[in-house]
Amino acid sequence: MDDAKKARAELVEIGRLIEQKDLIVGPGGNTSARVGDVIYVKASGKTFEEAVESDYVGVDLRSGELVDGTLKPTSEIAMHRGCYLVRDDIRAVVHTHPPFALGVASAGKTIAPMCPDYVALIGPAIPLIDYVVPTGQEIADAVVPFIKEHHAVLLANHGVVAVGRTLREAYYRNLFVESAAKALVAAEVVGTLRPLTHEEVAEIDGLATEKYRRDLLKDQR
Ligand SMILES: [Zn+2]
Repeated sequence: MDDAKKARAELVEIGRLIEQKDLIVGPGGNTSARVGDVIYVKASGKTFEEAVESDYVGVDLRSGELVDGTLKPTSEIAMHRGCYLVRDDIRAVVHTHPPFALGVASAGKTIAPMCPDYVALIGPAIPLIDYVVPTGQEIADAVVPFIKEHHAVLLANHGVVAVGRTLREAYYRNLFVESAAKALVAAEVVGTLRPLTHEEVAEIDGLATEKYRRDLLKDQR
C-alpha cells in the first residue's frame, strides 16, 4: 500500500472513532495527515461517519492547490496547512467540536493540568483562543501561532484543535481534552479543582515512565 493510500485509510478509521466518541455531530470538524509535501484532508461537508477514502483529498502543503481528488477541501484548510508549516515534527492535525470542551471554552475558561495523563499528552495548560470566524485565514491566523508552542488549543465558541506525530496521537489529544473538560466540570460540581503545581508538572514530565508512554504513542500507527 502506498503512503497516500495508507494515510487515507487511517483518516477513515480515525474519523469513525471521532464520530463514535461523540467528538463531533454531523459534518463538522476535520482531520488531515501529511504525506511528504501533500496533506490529505477531509472534504467540505462530509461527515466522519460516512466519509470514505476518496472523501479525503490531497492538497499541496505550500501552494494550497488540490493535487489528488476532486472534492473541495474543508474551509479550515488554511489552518491545517499553517500548523504543518510551523511544526516540522507533526504528521497529523485533528479538529473536533466536543461538547464539554466547547462548553468550558465558551465560558471563557481553560483546563489546568490535573493529572499525569494531561502532562504526558498535552503538556502545560492548554491555551484558550477567543472566538474568530471558523473559516479561511482568520482561523489560521488565530490558531497557528499557538500550535507553534502547544500540542492542543481550545477555541471559544468552536472546539478543539490538536496536532500529533501520528493521527492516533492527534486524535487522543482531542479525546483527552474532552475527558479533562469532563473532569473539570465534575470537580467544580463537587468542589473546586486543585490543579497540579508547576513543581508537580515538572516532576511528572521528567519521569522515565512518562517518556516511555509518549514514545509508544509516537510509534503507534
Ligand atoms: Zn470547526
